Amino acid sequence: MTDWKPRTRAVHAGTRRSQYGEVSEAIFLTQGFVYDSAEAAAQRFEKAGEDEFIYARYGNPTVAMFEDRIASLEGAEAAFATASGMAAVSGALMSMLKAGDRVVSARALFGSCLYVLEEILARYGVEIVLVDGTDLEAWEQAITPETDVVFFESVSNPTLEVIDIEAVVKLAHAQNAKVVIDNVFASPVYSRAFEQGADVVIYSATKHIDGQGRAMGGVILGSEEYIRKTVEPYLKHTGPALSPFSAWIMLKGLETIELRVRAQTATAEALADALSGHPKLARAIYPGHASHAQHDLCMRQMGKGGTLLAIDLAGGQEAAFRFLNALQIGVISNNLGDAKSILTHPATTTHQRLPQEQKDLLGITPGLVRISVGLEDADDLIVDMLQALDQA
Ligand SMILES: *Cc1c(COP(=O)(O)O)cnc(C)c1O
Repeated sequence: MTDWKPRTRAVHAGTRRSQYGEVSEAIFLTQGFVYDSAEAAAQRFEKAGEDEFIYARYGNPTVAMFEDRIASLEGAEAAFATASGMAAVSGALMSMLKAGDRVVSARALFGSCLYVLEEILARYGVEIVLVDGTDLEAWEQAITPETDVVFFESVSNPTLEVIDIEAVVKLAHAQNAKVVIDNVFASPVYSRAFEQGADVVIYSATKHIDGQGRAMGGVILGSEEYIRKTVEPYLKHTGPALSPFSAWIMLKGLETIELRVRAQTATAEALADALSGHPKLARAIYPGHASHAQHDLCMRQMGKGGTLLAIDLAGGQEAAFRFLNALQIGVISNNLGDAKSILTHPATTTHQRLPQEQKDLLGITPGLVRISVGLEDADDLIVDMLQALDQA
């Protein structure tokens, strides 16, 4: 199986068949498991074997199939699935940190990631240092010998800054710090984060892995030692377990993720071409477009620009709202990676909480609109966005 290419692994890796030999993965909607004898129960509690389960908060066969499949795709030794992407982000960090530790993170983060760092970890005595993630000198200065963890989104939400994984890993490892990457925007399709030196990779499975807006989920990937000795004890006792039903949705999502994400990326490329230089826009931001400041890095790191772009309407918030309200295909919502194109106004929704000063620093301007490109026909989307821009 290790020689199989990603598309084959996305369909077959991790499959466990019951005695019925079902083709599609079974959903084990059970919270517990029956032991053959009292001795067997005692033995399993002492040390559970590879395919032995105790309680669904610790593990479940459908969830294990999802964990094994995503680990295989990502090239990770092990994975632990969670009830949401934020349970994965907070679980990965909380399980490895203690009071007095130091985290250096890129400043441009998803709102809830920023909350976990600045409001929760800081309250427990973890020192948080935020830097401009695109500035390698800033990383170098901040990553002191006291640094324990380095954290960033490889492509930031919502301004699509690309962080140089290999360069930051080198600086972090030189100080014995572990690198934890929130890789949602890259998606498993364009990720080579472990090859590029990451210690821990996190996904919100809610995004491209489901890809059809049905269920919440998340996953933490890393070494066998980190997952079994650090993450598992923390998550199994704090309890954000992924539901077996949602794990089944994520397994089915992985089967088609490559086809979906590549099709969505091709449309994002066409949209970036159609929108760049538009007179109503102050900027169009797409890492896969030659105009993006880190285009070369993005191509080196991911090979493609991904499924998200952002536009900044020159007319500010009023123009952005007129544009959003005039759309006929894309919907106003805040998920991403979905089959439906989804548009978000970060300044008043996902990043509303941030003070103006921080919004300015992150480039979350009043005119900024994030576009998650779906599976609709590219020409239809372009026509719709252009007509909505006319009305903006
Ligand atoms: C959505 C998202 C998360 C959180 O995932 P949920 O499944 O919504 O909890 C974390 N990081 C990034 C970059 C995201 O886009």
